[in-house]
Amino acid sequence: MAAKIYVCDNCGFLFTRTGECDQCPDCGKKMVRDASPEEKEEFAKRQKEYNC
Ligand SMILES: [Zn+2]
Repeated sequence: MAAKIYVCDNCGFLFTRTGECDQCPDCGKKMVRDASPEEKEEFAKRQKEYNC
């Protein structure tokens, strides 16, 4: 299963999960949705910065 990028509508937390996810690992609210293309880009950019 491919990893997907999600965003929390409550706290704005961006995270990646393999498979389905409906709960935010940061605030615990079930306000998670698929990240938009812009948010996915932001997430990729952020990971790049942190990993190097
Ligand atoms: Zn959250």
